[in-house]
Amino acid sequence: MNAVLATKAAFDRQGDQNDEQRVDAAMRSFVAEIGVTAALHLESCVRCGLCAKACHFAVATGDPKYTPIRKLDLLRRAYQREVGPFAPLVRALGLAKAPSIDDLQQWQELLYDSCTMCGRCTLVCPMGIDIADLVKTSRHAMFKAGLVPERLALMDRTARQWGSTATPGEDLPDILAEVSAEHGVAIPCDLAQADILVTAAPAELGDHTKALADAAKILNHIGAKWTMHQAGFDAANIGFNNGDLELQARLTRSLIDTALKIGAKTVLLPECGHAYGAARWEAAQWYDQALPLRIIHMTEFLDELLASGQIRVKPIGQSATFHDPCQIVRRGGLEAAARRVLRALGVELIELEAHGNTGYCCGGGGGVVSNQRAAPLRRRVFEIKREQVDATGAQRFVTSCGQCRITLEQGAKLAHWDKQTESLLELVADQLID
Ligand code: SF4
Ligand code: SF4
Repeated sequence: MNAVLATKAAFDRQGDQNDEQRVDAAMRSFVAEIGVTAALHLESCVRCGLCAKACHFAVATGDPKYTPIRKLDLLRRAYQREVGPFAPLVRALGLAKAPSIDDLQQWQELLYDSCTMCGRCTLVCPMGIDIADLVKTSRHAMFKAGLVPERLALMDRTARQWGSTATPGEDLPDILAEVSAEHGVAIPCDLAQADILVTAAPAELGDHTKALADAAKILNHIGAKWTMHQAGFDAANIGFNNGDLELQARLTRSLIDTALKIGAKTVLLPECGHAYGAARWEAAQWYDQALPLRIIHMTEFLDELLASGQIRVKPIGQSATFHDPCQIVRRGGLEAAARRVLRALGVELIELEAHGNTGYCCGGGGGVVSNQRAAPLRRRVFEIKREQVDATGAQRFVTSCGQCRITLEQGAKLAHWDKQTESLLELVADQLID
């Protein structure tokens, strides 16, 4: 696992800016976004190396170029040259090189292909440096410079046009009618009034329609007044991953404004990690005020329904292990909720060696799963999870994020691993007592 992975520098470009304009756009973004917290973080590194031991890309490849703090090198240099207390001196003495177009192109792989913004490095850093958040800041500069992996840029353009990376809003009623017919469950669409606005991740309108149908089954079972709505249905916010903050704000607003329009008090998020990060934890920032309604993840919803007795489930009676999605657990705080749901399902939980807040990322977060050229890296990272799952000897393998599921399913297929990655939501729906 420690052999250095040979990869050639990979980068894509968008737009017609020349090199000078790209560097200028990136520098202006770096400088504009270095606030007090970021400055403190950039000043604090004591080079202890602990973050390298925490990052799945560095661990799986053994390649020092994937050391987390190195990913912030361009941001740090911009800070030292333009913002820091000794900036004029640093510039005059050439103590920090200004980022060049070659640097920006080279760092595209480090910021997008080999970082899932999982925050495991942040957790172990003795100085409390939030590397994951600063990678996100750096991605914004890359987006401004038109230097985003093309797969993600394509999704960005689609989401700007459709409000979703995969589905035009006007197609939603037909898709829901198909899912409804296939799974035999009513899925309301575009109701003028409802208490809960239910949202989806792209996979639930494609490969994972059972998850959407199972959410509908549970909502109908408890008699909720709910709907999906073509004005705001895709919670997987690609702006959050790409560093396209304007799109992130627009997609966030579309969910909240649609919910308010139909009188909903709750926005229910799908089993999707970055949907939770974007819509639950960053939404108020983009909404410019305290959120006027509740935004909850599917795992919280299931946990509350089970605790209140609104739903009951038949025990599974098998052992299971659980993959903690980073944005839901480490970054989102829902470590206990998933375990309460598993307990209610009567499974014997055998924890992974690294689990809960310290769990390893699946390797596909932060848009990496959609970035085709990162596939060889994902494959290396998958082996960490596979080894840990196999070591538990558990009969079932469960998670609560559809994107993690896709990443793990892809990894399993390539590695000829026969363990199925199951959805916590689908397990609850399958065991529901009428
Ligand atoms: S763990 Fe923190 S202090 Fe140590 S090298 Fe990484 S960023 Fe620097
Ligand atoms: S956020 Fe995760 S993927 Fe990114 S550098 Fe840190 S540990 Fe590695």
